[in-house]
Amino acid sequence: MPPLAASSTNPAPKPPRPPTTSPTLGLVGGGQLAKMLAQAAQQFGCEVVVLERTPNTPAAHLARTTLLGDWDDPANLLKLGAQVDVTTLENEFVASESLAALEHAGHAVWPSSRTIRLVQDKLLQKEALAGAGLPLPRFVAVAEPADIAAAALNFGWPLVLKKRRNGYDGKGNATLRSPADIASAWAELGGGAGALYVEEFCPFVAELAIMIVRGRAGESVAYPLVETVQQNHICHLVKAPAAVAPDIAQRASEIARLTVESVEMVGAMGVEMFLLADGTVLVNELAPRVHNSGHYTIEACVCSQFENHVRAVLGWPLGDPSLLAPAAVMVNLLGAGPGSGTPHGLAQALAVPGSHPHVYGKAHSQTGRKMGHLTVLGQTLPEALEKARHAAGLIRFGDSPIS
Ligand code: ADP
Repeated sequence: MPPLAASSTNPAPKPPRPPTTSPTLGLVGGGQLAKMLAQAAQQFGCEVVVLERTPNTPAAHLARTTLLGDWDDPANLLKLGAQVDVTTLENEFVASESLAALEHAGHAVWPSSRTIRLVQDKLLQKEALAGAGLPLPRFVAVAEPADIAAAALNFGWPLVLKKRRNGYDGKGNATLRSPADIASAWAELGGGAGALYVEEFCPFVAELAIMIVRGRAGESVAYPLVETVQQNHICHLVKAPAAVAPDIAQRASEIARLTVESVEMVGAMGVEMFLLADGTVLVNELAPRVHNSGHYTIEACVCSQFENHVRAVLGWPLGDPSLLAPAAVMVNLLGAGPGSGTPHGLAQALAVPGSHPHVYGKAHSQTGRKMGHLTVLGQTLPEALEKARHAAGLIRFGDSPIS
């Protein structure tokens, strides 16, 4: 008897497809950057697991689980790795050897421990970038105070003395104006044991930054070049796009792309740069993660830095980084003093047309602590700047009692 012919109206039953689930993302660190990454991950149905040192951080409310522990301890990283498909970082201050242990145990970690090792030590970072031929301020390692005076013979005064590791928001830097400043800066920054290096002072006319997101296969997207304005070494506001000549924007963008390639970044990377009066662009430093200079992308770009970081580390196609409006301004909302993490004036700020406040949900405000940010889109930079300053001025953190 001939075999039964397959019939299109009565197909043979197929084996059931295994249930598919979205990948789970591990976040080392649970602050505001992790919170905004978690929001982006949840858009794709992904759950997140956070590893943090303290409970009740901004991302904790969004996480499936928060593992409490020191993120430098490989055992804690392995616990995180066991619960997730891919691990990523919200800060670069995680011991790279511990991340390497996670990789050796077969877990996916992006950016890689190799990239983090190079970037978290500013001297190694500068050496890697110099090796790749990228334009930088002149720099040299200093083993003792006398090396600073020797560097000044080449670089002149002032000089900037920097910690190689764990510096942020200007904590870890000192500007030295003469030999008289050497001893106090050395003591203040904890000199010795290869902890510091020195670089020439750059008389910049503007500080620029750009976010590049690079995927696992080496493909990348570049956000617009922005201008960042610091107050007391903390990013105060970001203007997008930077009001510079097109050739400068193009050069800065190319330098940033080569920078990200040179450290084989996977994920979002902030490239901070100095613009000098003669149009020279120098790389200041790298942030191997989503970055404050890219917060404006949430409302102002087709695909935000947070969404693109999630796409990159999960190995998915990258999204469009283009601006949705001619201009955007982001203002950081810093604590005005100790008090609650719940702001006054949110409703008033929301009443300003086009204002997008973000409140990070930190339990307590402290003077100068990043408590939130606010973005405004506009037809021109001056228009967006005026509105953003007005709306941000209506919000205040830190003068109410701790709840
Ligand atoms: P952090 O990691 O603390 O942000 P940075 O190295 O970016 O440290 O320095 C913080 C700020 O200090 C910069 O945004 C810039 O305003 C200033 N600065 C840093 N290096 C130099 C330099 N070589 N010349 C002039 N200003 C500098």
